[in-house]
Amino acid sequence: MNMRKKIVAANWKMNMTVGESAEWVRDFLLELGDIRDVDVVVVPPFTAIAKVTESLGSAQNIKVGAQNMHWERSGAFTGEISAALLRDLFVRYVVLGHSERRQLFGETDEIVNKKVKAAHEATLKPIVCIGETLEQRDGGKVEKVLSTQLRGSLVDLDAKQLQETTIAYEPVWAIGTGRNATPAQAQEAHAFIRQTLREMSDESVAEKIRIQYGGSVKPNNARELMSQPDIDGALVGGASLEARSFAEIVKAAREE
Ligand code: PEP
Repeated sequence: MNMRKKIVAANWKMNMTVGESAEWVRDFLLELGDIRDVDVVVVPPFTAIAKVTESLGSAQNIKVGAQNMHWERSGAFTGEISAALLRDLFVRYVVLGHSERRQLFGETDEIVNKKVKAAHEATLKPIVCIGETLEQRDGGKVEKVLSTQLRGSLVDLDAKQLQETTIAYEPVWAIGTGRNATPAQAQEAHAFIRQTLREMSDESVAEKIRIQYGGSVKPNNARELMSQPDIDGALVGGASLEARSFAEIVKAAREE
């Protein structure tokens, strides 16, 4: 039995108005009750961050995250958001290198690495996404892709920064498709990721890093996925838009 606290995050992507966000938080708090043994992170679009923080009120066990950020501290970068601006809104986590950003916005491992370093400098905790496409899986390249993305995204981090980084294994073919990896497939990838982290640092650091699974996680498959030895939580897209289903997934993390 490992000692890692589970971490479950709701990635709302480009959804939820300010009004919908406030309603979601109200419903979620009612559904969830007082839960402290799981780290819960709500990741709204930038426009709803302040409202979510305000609506969470004294629910300090639930943290707020952002879906992206720029690596520079400030300046002439029209349309971008810096780590300092996120900290100003009491944001604690930031999702970096999501496959949608890699595929649709050309983010490379080098860019992700710059963002990860900037996040740590600002004491934001990064959730770094990696994962293979279906073509890469069918071509037997899963380990090569995961190793390259992991090493490339985490260049030059010290042990403390590594421990405060969460990895999200998100097979691209499972995101938003309703087709999730089987618990065995996910565990195999997570074990490989942890082994790679051991090689990049050492046993004690690798044992502390949390690795979330993401890809069509739902209330009915969450428990089995999160009961695997190297699966330390979930990054949830579609099923997080409904407060009740996300609350069920958080409860599944606690009960496994
Ligand atoms: C995601 O966007 O990170 C994700 C895993 O989405 P979904 O749960 O909808 O597959």
